[in-house]
Formats: sequence, C-alpha cells, structure tokens
Amino acid sequence: MKRNRRVKILATLGPASDSRDMIARLVKAGADIFRINMSHASHEILDRTVGHIRSVEEEFRRPLGILVDLQGPKIRIGKFADDEIVLNNGDIFTMDQNSDPGDQKRVYLPHPELFQAVKPGHRLLLDDGRIELQAAEVSSDRIKCKVIYGGPLSNRKGVSVPDSLLAVSAMTEKDRADLDHALKRNVDWIALSFVQRPQDITQARKITGGRVGIMAKIEKPQAIQRLGEIIKLCDAFMIARGDLGVELPLEQVPGLQKRMIRLARRYGRPVVVATQMLESMVSSPTPTRAEVSDVSTAVFEGADAIMLSAESASGDFPVEAVATMDKVAIAVESDVNYPSIIRAQGAEPEATAADAISAATRQTAETLDLAAIVTYTSSGSTGLRAARERPSKPIIALSPEISTVRRLSLVWGIHCVQSEDAKDLEDMVDKACSIAHSQGFARPGERIAITAGVPLRTSGSTNMLRIAFIDHKGSGST
Ligand code: PGA
Ligand code: MN
Repeated sequence: MKRNRRVKILATLGPASDSRDMIARLVKAGADIFRINMSHASHEILDRTVGHIRSVEEEFRRPLGILVDLQGPKIRIGKFADDEIVLNNGDIFTMDQNSDPGDQKRVYLPHPELFQAVKPGHRLLLDDGRIELQAAEVSSDRIKCKVIYGGPLSNRKGVSVPDSLLAVSAMTEKDRADLDHALKRNVDWIALSFVQRPQDITQARKITGGRVGIMAKIEKPQAIQRLGEIIKLCDAFMIARGDLGVELPLEQVPGLQKRMIRLARRYGRPVVVATQMLESMVSSPTPTRAEVSDVSTAVFEGADAIMLSAESASGDFPVEAVATMDKVAIAVESDVNYPSIIRAQGAEPEATAADAISAATRQTAETLDLAAIVTYTSSGSTGLRAARERPSKPIIALSPEISTVRRLSLVWGIHCVQSEDAKDLEDMVDKACSIAHSQGFARPGERIAITAGVPLRTSGSTNMLRIAFIDHKGSGST
C-alpha cells in the first residue's frame, strides 16, 4: 500500500475508532501511525488496541506505528453523573476532594496539590481554555469558583492554572506504570507530556533504553526556553498546541510552530503538529476553511506528521477526518510553490558520512529524475537523515528490524519496508530494485538510487551511493 503524499497522518484512537474494523478503515483512509492516549485509555484498552493495530498491519502488509501518549502531570477534573453539564457565566461552581460524580454545582478535582497552590483571584482554565473560572474561596478541600466564561463541560477535561505555581515532576506514578505496560506491548513511540527540562528526557531514557522512541510534547513555556537542548535529546517532538495555547498567549503559537518545525529540520528530529487541526469535524462531516488552511500551513512548513485528536478518537466522523487530511496534504504537496518552499527551509548537511551521502543522493535522484531512493537503515538513523533532505523523490527505507520500520512510519516521506539484510552487494541491488518495483515506486527501465553501509550489516556505516536499473523482470541490474 503506497501513499500519494509525504507528510504522515497520526490518528488518535478512542471510543469512536478503536475497534479493529475502524482501525482498518482509518488505515485505508490514510492513517500511518496511531496514538493511544493514556489520559483516557486503561491497560486493557491499550492491550486490545495494540492487538487490533498489529492484526490490521498484517492484513495490509504495511508497518503501522503505535504512539503511547503518557498523561504526565496534567490536571483533570473527575466525571459527571450525566457525563456533561453546561456552565453559565456568573454561576458558582466548586471543585472539591469528593470522588462522587459531579453535577451542576460541583465536580471532583483529584489533585490535592492544587488546593494549596490556587489562591483567590487565580484563573482556572478548563478544556483547553474554552471555560474560564476564577477562584473565589479556597480551603484545604474546596475551591469555590465564579464562572467567567461558561460552556459545556464533560468528563475528565483538563484544567490549567497559569497563575498558580505548581511543583510537578515530569513522570507521575501513573505514567511509570503506563510506560512499563506499554514497553511490554512493544509499542514504537512514547510521548512525554508537559516536558519542562532536558533532564525529563534523559530520565525517561534511563528507563526505556533503546526500546522505544521518545517524543517530547512541547506544551510548557519552560520547554520553549530550553527548546534546542530538549530537541537534541529527544527522538521526536510534538507541537502540542492545545496546552501550549493555554499556557502561553494563543497568538504566540503560530510563530512558535514555525520556529519549532525549522529546528526539527535542523536537528533531523521528526515533528508532529497537533491539536484542533480539524476540530469542527468532531461533529461535522466537512471542515472549515480555516481548518483546511491550518492543515495546509503545517504541510507547507514541512512537518513530518499532522495529528488528529478528538476528531478521530471520539468524534462522529473519524474516517472523514483522516480522509480530509489526506486530501488536503496531497493538494498542498502538488502545489506549484510547495517544492521551493520546502527547499528554502532546508538545513546544511552535517559533516558525517550519512549526511554527505544523503545530500548527494537527493541531488543525484533529482538531477537524474530517478524513480526512488532506497535506503538500507538498520537503526533508522540514515532513514531520518535521508528524510531531512526532503528530496522530491520517494524514500523507501529498508530495515530487518520491525521496530525500526514501524518507528519510521512517523517520518516525512519514508515508505517503510521490513526486509532481510542483503547477503552481498549484488543481493543489495536486487532487493532494492525488486522492492521498489513490487511496492509500486519504480517500473522496469527506470532507475533508483540506493544507499547503504559497506561492509553490510554494520549500523551507522552508511557510506555508499549506487544507481541501479530496474530490469524487465522488475529486479536489479547495474
Ligand atoms: P493532549 O496533548 O491532547 O494530550 O493534551 C496535545 C496538546 O496539548 O495539544
Ligand atoms: Mn497536552
């Protein structure tokens, strides 16, 4: 199964979409990698969903990435007896330490630390800032608030307290348990929420080793202050616009998005643009003009992946939302200005063999109008460097490691295929040609570029660029 676009689609799974049937439909519509959000999913749901994704992966013979998003120190309210209430401006609404389901007057706030930190006059922003409350009276177990801006409020919505000083660690006990569970299920990526310091990444890495890619979610002003260091330490990052737009003035988010995507390119780290990309599609089968424009901007900026949250997890139109992203991305990438915009954001190759070869390969593939670039990459790092060049020709990444090909499903422009290691140079050319042919990227008579490391089977040794013809049988000849 071949995509007609370079940017990847990351779809969050939830009650509207985590059945096997829906996952298969989302893949058909364009989803490349799935997010399981541990703010909502139990370990049982995680197990079942991972099982469904792996079964769909086998059916479509296409590696699918799985990202497990750890909740982090996110503050959320409890549940309501009727699942949803509507707050009106001027209402009095109380958050308390009583775990009973909430109602029109009160709701459980399962975060004892808040009852010390919040002072009268402080703002409490709920549901990504849609609802604003102001603390009026605070005691050790109750925060009585006045509703400044009301609206519908449903179960387990997030709370942000920009005026209050909270001592939080990056990984909570729940995160630790969720992470251990996710590692047992061999997921491909984990996301760390509310990263504040570079140490948050190194600490997580101590636990995970190389077993999973670490994605840092950038959603705190503290992370923006140390962006370069955090990006260098992580394996990928997410521009988590939901919380970022609450923690910082909303109008700063678009500029930060541009800055972060450029840093991603500079350091060769995959970047995801997330939250409210097609928000109206939660309840409508078509997007707004502004949403289409927002998705387009992220694609023009060269993001690796664009993400759906509630649109695919709990909305009424998950398949339509994925199909809309797919359509918009294809249109942007075929726009006359797209190649020059992407090229203008390029970063210089670093002084390494992998970068020199990747830059030469892009140049060669474009000059000779080759059908594809085939990259042998065991750890995935050469695949990342090839993608960082943003070549106008498709990249096929071959790795014997299923974990590598699944992880690369997040990355711009890479078509991932698991393939045994080549036995010798001739086999390497043959395999590359027959895979490029059978996967629909190259026809007999066309040529491809192949990069690899010689001697074969040594990680981090990319040092060779080869041009090969697809012969009439669809295999290689030089
Ligand atoms: P969340 O992260 O959906 O887990 O909050 C994304 C964001 O904050 O934008
Ligand atoms: Mn968030």
